[in-house]
Amino acid sequence: MTQALILQVVQSYKLTELFQRVILTGAGLERLGENSAGLHIKLFFKRDGQQQLNLQHLGKNRHQRHSDEQPQKDLDKQPSSVLKPSSRTYSVRHYDTVNNLLTVDFVLHPDPGVACAWAKTALKGDQVGLAGPGPMRLCNLNASAFLLIGDASSLPAIMAVIDQLPLHASVQVVMELPKGHLPFIDCERICNIKWHWLEQTFTPQTSLLPLIRSLALPLAGVSVAIASEHKTVLCLRQYFRSQSIDRDYLYCVPYWRHRQNEETYHDARHRVMDS
Ligand SMILES: Cc1cc2nc3c(=O)[nH]c(=O)nc-3n(C[C@H](O)[C@H](O)[C@H](O)COP(=O)(O)OP(=O)(O)OC[C@H]3O[C@@H](n4cnc5c(N)ncnc54)[C@H](O)[C@@H]3O)c2cc1C
Repeated sequence: MTQALILQVVQSYKLTELFQRVILTGAGLERLGENSAGLHIKLFFKRDGQQQLNLQHLGKNRHQRHSDEQPQKDLDKQPSSVLKPSSRTYSVRHYDTVNNLLTVDFVLHPDPGVACAWAKTALKGDQVGLAGPGPMRLCNLNASAFLLIGDASSLPAIMAVIDQLPLHASVQVVMELPKGHLPFIDCERICNIKWHWLEQTFTPQTSLLPLIRSLALPLAGVSVAIASEHKTVLCLRQYFRSQSIDRDYLYCVPYWRHRQNEETYHDARHRVMDS
């Protein structure tokens, strides 16, 4: 892993009822470079009781590596100053190379964990740690058409990626949003793109799958990305694998799991991605 950085909040504001936009800067952030939009990053947050964010204990030893999965009662016995920070995965929404500014859009979900709660109250000068970016891209840029399926958690990455796709390629986006939230598009592409919006019901068999089937896409040469809640990703991955889509053209990553926080879900996500 590249060296973790400490970043400062430059600005934080509510983009919509569903998203808090946080703009960050800091020394070393230049490594994101020009083509980082849509890539994933790890953000680190100080734990309860810690006065200051401390990145010194990241990956130091086996016990520390697993402190994210330790029960709270065990964590309570350790001095907070030596604990690893909490970590969460987010996406580069935009990186401004001229001014060294990173934009991250946080979903304001109804059961806020450490990241969502931090973003909601972030003030200018607050600190957050960053590792990455990771190399994995949502799309195979050799494809002739793109199908991007996601929810609010992947909308920032999907919108970042849309503006990088060739203009002649056709793009279809299937996006689930929580009940009551209106479609929100914040990307420049307007031609050769079709958006399909659905209410998120966590019942992919009866909601998403029929819609995707109805698109009747010829899957040869299409890059398919599925980035959403665990159950949805598993269901759709099974469908696309049954269509014999080439694995290099299929990105399937569960971004979160209903009723599990990142500490509980982290290892299971990696098992899903490896399977
Ligand atoms: C590669 C990758 C990129 C990602 N990029 C982004 C991004 O740019 N923006 C973004 O907002 N998220 C993104 N996510 C998802 C984000 O990492 C998770 O939503 C994370 O769990 C949020 O942390 P938290 O501390 O707020 O909640 P946690 O402490 O992890 O969870 C607390 C509770 O909230 C629920 N929960 C978590 N996320 C959501 C959600 N999105 N909607 C509804 N309930 C939820 C959990 O089920 C749990 O019950 C990304 C994930 C991955 C793997």
